[in-house]
Amino acid sequence: MAENVNKSVLIIYTGGTIGMKNTEMGYTPAPGFFAEAIREIEDMARPEFPSWELYETSPLLDSSNMSVREWNKIAEVIYENYERYAGFVVLHGTDTMAYTASALSFILGGLDKPVVLTGSQIPLSEIRSDGRENLITSVLIAAEGVVREVCLYFSGRLLRGNRAEKMSSDGLHAFDSPNYPPLAEVGIDIRYNRAALLKRSTEGLTYNPFSEVPIGVLKVFPGIQFGLFEEIMTERLSGIVLETFGAGNIPGGATELLPIIRKAFAAGSVITVCSQCPSGTVTLGAYETSASLKGAGAVSGKDMTTEAAVAKLYHLFSLGLDKSEIKSLMEKDLRGELSE
Ligand code: ASP
Repeated sequence: MAENVNKSVLIIYTGGTIGMKNTEMGYTPAPGFFAEAIREIEDMARPEFPSWELYETSPLLDSSNMSVREWNKIAEVIYENYERYAGFVVLHGTDTMAYTASALSFILGGLDKPVVLTGSQIPLSEIRSDGRENLITSVLIAAEGVVREVCLYFSGRLLRGNRAEKMSSDGLHAFDSPNYPPLAEVGIDIRYNRAALLKRSTEGLTYNPFSEVPIGVLKVFPGIQFGLFEEIMTERLSGIVLETFGAGNIPGGATELLPIIRKAFAAGSVITVCSQCPSGTVTLGAYETSASLKGAGAVSGKDMTTEAAVAKLYHLFSLGLDKSEIKSLMEKDLRGELSE
């Protein structure tokens, strides 16, 4: 990679549909295949287009196979090349893109350059691919340097990474951030919503990789037999995200789950309450069915997505903080992931 090419953008290809090849076994990423497809985009070779370089991670993955190791690796590539580039584009599968965007937003602190995640629903090598526009606009946003945070660009909208969620498995408008306005809308121009952007950081970039923290997500449903989960809701799970109804409500007259939560909490787990509703916030205590959750030791995930809550638990436990500090930080805004 070249030294000090200030206006250059580093494109990190990690796998995902955008660079996949159609094989007898279905779509799969293949080394070098994306590098060939990108060379065929003539606009990316025009003199007025920002200069860019490609970095391909190994192995390339369908994003359903992404794990803590890959999140750390992507963040490390950005951290190590930070001074050499104006911004970064991370090409990623759409399935877990919102998780990776959330994870990167916590692993990398003090960002002062854009890190834009994007991908596509149709591979770049196919007719009607949405990858071309997603990629070109993401590189422009990364080169421009207006945003200074981890964000996700897809089908005309730039979203805060740790507020984004995949909303459609087959629509081209696959992402949204129901609890936070888009950071930019892309039409003829890229119109930034400057009031919504994170403020400039003067701290300097930090890299705090995640450890393999045991985390669980439990989605409640009518008729759930909480007793079955007693075995797993123990100190073996450091962090638990409880996906509840509406504003933080649980079924079972709260009597079944509360003793389990109390026990898990006493054993050291941090239980964060998120909502199954994509939009709106958790307000523990708004209803009788949620009031006791707080008393049992659970914390409110407020309007955080499950993806952000999972990444935040990884982050705080990986920092080695004690449980009471983690509990209090879960309810505080650290990277724009929740509204206080
Ligand atoms: N399964 C693919 C992935 O997440 C889907 C996509 O990229 O759209 O890697």
